[in-house]
Amino acid sequence: MKCEEVQQELIAYHFKTVREPISIEVENHFLECQACLRSYFDLKRAMEKPLSDSVPSRACRARIKHEIMRKYRPSLFDKLSSCLLTPIPLYQGVAAFVAITILVSVGVNIRSQVSSRRISESFGRTPGIQMDSSDDNAGSGNIS
Ligand SMILES: [Zn+2]
Repeated sequence: MKCEEVQQELIAYHFKTVREPISIEVENHFLECQACLRSYFDLKRAMEKPLSDSVPSRACRARIKHEIMRKYRPSLFDKLSSCLLTPIPLYQGVAAFVAITILVSVGVNIRSQVSSRRISESFGRTPGIQMDSSDDNAGSGNIS
C-alpha cells in the first residue's frame, strides 16, 4: 500500500470503518513507514482533543447564532398559526367572552342612540336628553 492510499484511509481507520483487508494493510504500512504512523498519531491526537480547548471565537459564535436565527426563526405566519393552534385556558376564554359581550352591548347601545338621534333629527326635533322625554310623550301620544 502506498503512502497516499494510507493517508486517505487514516480517518476511516481511526473510526474503524475500513474493511478488514484494508485495515490490515494500513497496520502493516505503519510498521514500515514512520511518516504515516506519525501522521496517524497526529490525527488521533487532534480527534481526541477535548472540545473545551477549541471554543469558537466570539465573532464565530455570533455568526453561527445569526445563521441559526436566520434559518430557524419563525416567520410571522408561523407565530400567528401557533398562536391560533395553542389551546386557550378556560379563564381566558371566559374573560374574552365577557369582554366581547360588553363591547357588543355597548356598541348596540351607541348605535341605537345614534339611530334614534338621527330619526329625531330627521323629524326636526332637538337632539339630546330632552329628546328622550319628547319621544316618550310622542310615543304615548301616538298610542292613545
Ligand atoms: Zn507511509
